[in-house]
Amino acid sequence: MRIAVLADIHANLTAFEAVLADVARRGGVDEIWCPGDIIGYGPDPHECIALLRKVCKVCIAGNHDLAAAGLIDTSDFNPAAAAANRWTAQQLTPEDTDFIKCLPLTVERSDFTIVHGSPREPVREYLLDVDAASENLRCFSTKHCLVGHTHTPCLFMFGRSGKVRISTLEDGTEIKLGEERLIINPGGVGQPRDSNPRASYGIIDTDRRTFTLRRVPYDIPSVQARMKDRGLPEMLWRRLAAGR
Ligand code: ZN
Repeated sequence: MRIAVLADIHANLTAFEAVLADVARRGGVDEIWCPGDIIGYGPDPHECIALLRKVCKVCIAGNHDLAAAGLIDTSDFNPAAAAANRWTAQQLTPEDTDFIKCLPLTVERSDFTIVHGSPREPVREYLLDVDAASENLRCFSTKHCLVGHTHTPCLFMFGRSGKVRISTLEDGTEIKLGEERLIINPGGVGQPRDSNPRASYGIIDTDRRTFTLRRVPYDIPSVQARMKDRGLPEMLWRRLAAGR
């Protein structure tokens, strides 16, 4: 079975569609999994939820999804993120909000636990270093875990000796899904933050036992134009071109 993992789409329909086209070009997948943050920041929240509902098999709630649906507050959001959240909430249909309210925070599927932030704190924790990753290892029981939230593709590997390693993932990097337990972040589709503006996602192949990272160019100026048009904060559309 082949699975595409699309995290942090963030209401960027152009990036989302470019990634789906890339998936199709590579022969398609059997399932799409989304570790959260479908919306927030970007110009197309309703359109992204509608498309996700058509194509996605497993979807997790992210902090931006829950905030737009009024389920969590935005006290830890920066001012631009909070402003975008207020705008996003106004764009959602009642069906969109109901969809978000029904999303789980954690799902286990085959060898993977899927969460937005971390297994320990699925909504808000950023997994950025080996200490946080080590503390989270006992918080999931599947062999591997998929996270989003940082918008930075990366891999935590847990050796038998207890040694934890972290590595960044580049376009085309293939990870072997073997005996070692792993936490994998496929990076962000709609707002990458690793200084590479290309949309980031991953493909799991359960027969070959691999995870492969993919980067996809998309029409960033068209997204920036829609964001300006909708009055979204300048720093949010500027950062798309820088990828951070
Ligand atoms: Zn996010």
